[in-house]
Amino acid sequence: MPDKIFMSFAKDHNLPPSTVYGPVHSWRVGTSLGIDLLYVNSICSFRCIYCQLGKINEHTRERKVYVPTEQVMADLQASEWQSVDVITFSGNGEPTLAANLGEVMHAIRAFTHKPMVVLTNSTLLHDSTVRADLAAADKIFCKLDAAEDRTLKLIDRPVAGLTVYGIVEGIKALRREYRGHLAIQTMLLPINKNEVESLAALLNEIQPDEVQLNLPSRPVPRDWMIESRGNHERSAENATRLKLLSREDVDEIEGTLRRLTGLPLTSAYRRN
Ligand code: SF4
Repeated sequence: MPDKIFMSFAKDHNLPPSTVYGPVHSWRVGTSLGIDLLYVNSICSFRCIYCQLGKINEHTRERKVYVPTEQVMADLQASEWQSVDVITFSGNGEPTLAANLGEVMHAIRAFTHKPMVVLTNSTLLHDSTVRADLAAADKIFCKLDAAEDRTLKLIDRPVAGLTVYGIVEGIKALRREYRGHLAIQTMLLPINKNEVESLAALLNEIQPDEVQLNLPSRPVPRDWMIESRGNHERSAENATRLKLLSREDVDEIEGTLRRLTGLPLTSAYRRN
């Protein structure tokens, strides 16, 4: 999309006119500038029940260029990039769906020399071109919420054809090739709390550098809300909140995972 069309898209949809957002503070990575390569819509291969973007409008596995690299670089140059600790690729859905992810990462590295983190839902990691793109990242946080297909469907609501086996095989392929820090991020919910042992078995196969346990503490907007791509909270009337596991449940899950895997583990309850 040429710049002019891009700007008029932003105006017509009343969107903040930048593919770069923040800085936002993240307890995991510090002060972070977000890069949104999907800016033109909410686009993902999942529709997670806890998604803070609200509604995923484009449910797809197709990789393509949604925002031109030149637009992202122009937005970056106009941002406060100098003051941040890290550049994070997340945005309006699954960043690996952007076919220019690797190109943008190399351009940002050359321009800023800042560390880069990618948050991925792991669904495209079976694709060697995606893994090659991700090689430029310093850290990759890979989502793994389910150890069984039934739970995957209930929590992450994937596009047709995605299975836990395929996703885990993709993460394992990345693990074999990738030299940076690979973390698994798991959202703990009442739906998956009883499959901790199966999850531990998958984690033992993957051997990540770290396991991060999250809770869906942020409001879930009813409709797509581009402002939710950062750390923004939503007002209660426009959003719902999911039931959280108790502290005791999380402690038990954490203890079981530590015992069964021995992997370094961080929990949302212990982030301070
Ligand atoms: S993977 Fe991320 S962006 Fe996609 S639906 Fe889930 S939470 Fe939302």
